[in-house]
Amino acid sequence: MKEFAVIGNPIEHSKSPEIHMAFAAQFDIELRYSKILVDKGAFNVAASEFFECGTGANVTLPFKEDALQFADVLSERAQLAGAVNTLSKKEGLIIGDNTDGIGLVRDIRDNYGQSFLGKKILIIGAGGATRGVLLPIATEKPQLITIVNRTYKKAEQLAAQFTDYAALSVESFESLESPFDIIINATSASLSGQTLPLNEKVFTFESFAYDMMYGATPTLFMQQSTQRGGRCADGLGMLVEQAAQSFEIWHGVKPCSQPVIRSIRDQLS
Ligand code: NDP
Repeated sequence: MKEFAVIGNPIEHSKSPEIHMAFAAQFDIELRYSKILVDKGAFNVAASEFFECGTGANVTLPFKEDALQFADVLSERAQLAGAVNTLSKKEGLIIGDNTDGIGLVRDIRDNYGQSFLGKKILIIGAGGATRGVLLPIATEKPQLITIVNRTYKKAEQLAAQFTDYAALSVESFESLESPFDIIINATSASLSGQTLPLNEKVFTFESFAYDMMYGATPTLFMQQSTQRGGRCADGLGMLVEQAAQSFEIWHGVKPCSQPVIRSIRDQLS
């Protein structure tokens, strides 16, 4: 039976085994999927041990950059993301990919019916999550991607790396005052229950706000959008869609995400 795993620290909370087993059941594929808790600094040893018999691994915090170094071959999106969340062993080589960005795009575009084509996109945050989603969003041909970040310089540095892929601009929270079509919160502010200092004009009743964080109740960011009459969603679908893309890489078939998203949503409430 083929072996898969998710590697991280902490790892107990991970829903990846449940998601992958649910996908496998859709195709009657038999597999084993375990959680591997690894001490910081010990990623290479753990990953090498796993891949003695293993076929594929998901990698989560804080090891996505270690996984980038560990892989023998990288996809373009993993290189640009500067992080790997999916490792596969093929013909003796370890292939590194990053499915977070396509997971976000598929959730917003396919599950919520929001096209990026020709739209004005605002991404809040300039950390690993933003870096991972810029290329997949650029591929959808938006009119403009604007990055805003608490630390302005980080947003500038990030934007400079993607100028070949999309029209990009950088703003400060203070300078933001026009509306956007899609507003994505890629900061960790929701984790600590902090409100972002966003001008309310960025949201309209026609805009769509997406918080990469997810939970049982709407985040403060989602509430900011709702107050302006806009639609919103959290990042649970992104989690399931990035797993679906990993599953497709490993098994060559595209699973149906909707029932899995619903089942995990039910467990949250
Ligand atoms: P990083 O630590 O790399 O970056 C955090 C970002 O949040 C930085 O831009 C930081 O700004 C900003 N930030 C933190 N607190 C505040 C605040 N109070 N006000 C304004 N900005 C703030 O984290 P990641 O990029 O890896 O992750 C960001 C979020 O995305 C997390 O909540 C994570 O859970 C989520 N995520 C969800 C996924 C999913 O599948 N649903 C997948 C990946 C990530 P500064 O630069 O100024 O410090």
